[in-house]
Amino acid sequence: MLDWIVRGARVVDGTGAPWIRTDVGVKGDRIAAMGDLEGARAHREVDAGGDILAPGFIDVHTHSDLPLLVEGEGHSHIRQGVTTVAIGNCGNSPAPLSERGASRFREQIAVDFPELDWPPGPAGLADYLGELARRGTSSNVVPLVGHGTLRMSAMGFVGEAPGRDAMDAMKSMLAGAMEAGAFGLSSGLIYTPGSYARTPELVELARVVAAYRGIYASHIRGENDTLFDAVDEAIEIGEAAGIPVQIARLKVMGRHMWGSADRLLEVIEGARERGIDVTADQYPYEASATGLSAYLPGWAHGGSREDLLRRLGDPRAREEMRRDILEGVEDWVSPYRGVGWENTLVTRCSDPDLEGRSVEEIARERGADPFDTAFDLLIENEANVNVVLSTIGEADLERIMAHPAVMIASDSGVSAVEGPLARGKPHPRSFGTFVRVLGEYVRERGVLTLEEAVRKMTTMPAARLGLWDRGVLRVGARADLVIFDPGAVGDRATYTDPFAYPTGVSAVFVNGRETVREGAHLGARAGRILSR
Ligand SMILES: [Zn+2]
Repeated sequence: MLDWIVRGARVVDGTGAPWIRTDVGVKGDRIAAMGDLEGARAHREVDAGGDILAPGFIDVHTHSDLPLLVEGEGHSHIRQGVTTVAIGNCGNSPAPLSERGASRFREQIAVDFPELDWPPGPAGLADYLGELARRGTSSNVVPLVGHGTLRMSAMGFVGEAPGRDAMDAMKSMLAGAMEAGAFGLSSGLIYTPGSYARTPELVELARVVAAYRGIYASHIRGENDTLFDAVDEAIEIGEAAGIPVQIARLKVMGRHMWGSADRLLEVIEGARERGIDVTADQYPYEASATGLSAYLPGWAHGGSREDLLRRLGDPRAREEMRRDILEGVEDWVSPYRGVGWENTLVTRCSDPDLEGRSVEEIARERGADPFDTAFDLLIENEANVNVVLSTIGEADLERIMAHPAVMIASDSGVSAVEGPLARGKPHPRSFGTFVRVLGEYVRERGVLTLEEAVRKMTTMPAARLGLWDRGVLRVGARADLVIFDPGAVGDRATYTDPFAYPTGVSAVFVNGRETVREGAHLGARAGRILSR
């Protein structure tokens, strides 16, 4: 006797093969039967009515580490059919944290997550994962270790290279996290303190991860003027450490860089031809999101948050910051380049009236210079201002999406229309990434076939992470499933009105448990913490 039979679906198995019409039977947490199940019996049956049945989507790039502690149901992701999320991306993970790292971490999250009591003190990855498991999640979770977190724990926020002691401390924390089941190391080289690291430091850490067969996932050092150097660095780290490389949210930023996608993809193809295992992920939006403080040069972030705020208020430092934002410093270029204040939209700050408006517009209203306005906004919000930057060309976006080495990922923290996570103005990619690809880029624009799009959301990220029993529909695989109507699936979240669940996704199963029915979350928390 099966637990579930899904009948009447067009089955897209995740491999990229054309859909077939077949029944799928689930027993426990696995797919137990496929084929003609006419005579088979089950406790429950689903008539898919010709809709698509696919493996649950795997999001290799999320920032759901803390949101999942606040609200484990993970609405914005699970309702799209995302059943597995990788956390700890862009160099930032909630563990491991030393005593020093823990107090700085608490300071950093106080504004965005006032309800969270994390970490209780110094904490290893196992402590964090234990806390997450205790609360329960609706999706499966794949942990990565953030390089920035390691560096903050070992050295605080200092610009110099690590001495032997600091390097050893980072390596031993990293090895401990890999022992606790982490899948690899992430870096965020445009954010402090990650940006302070030079390539040899990253290679040395990547070698620790390589010994555990983990991956190196990087938000690379530059995405506009220095994009090509930054991609070269990621590839160099992969080659030197003998480790697979995942380039996060591959894109060409800044209007002056538009048209570079083909050359960018050639660099990745060249590396792959040399035998370096490099892949990338992408979200389907023309704007990206970051903290406004990421517009500032690295030296501005040195020391404590108070030091940063003091510099923001100091006229001489302001002049230097303005110059560096416009001209860059060594290999660092501000995200401001090719975007400008008119295309920098404030999405989260302490004054809700300012949300959804550009820095340029706010400056005009205040009768102030836009640079001074940006610095003032940072001071007024203790450096916590979120922005979206309209910066990515549509033609480049489509070229990158269509490339066979690029998968789909959201680069977002999980959110929800109601409850404690329904605040600020998150980037709409949190609610829309996967369904937007299926609606806009498959059905409306024909950039990808449906089967190829599903492959980029399932077997491809599964293989990248080494999840061999997920992301595919075959007998014996875990029963993470999504059912959607290919004619109706789509996103509704926008930059100014991001809190909107998708259309066309009717059912989601996680480890065989029904989690979404007729588009509504049933409250199940059947997700598991996965380990490498
Ligand atoms: Zn990220």
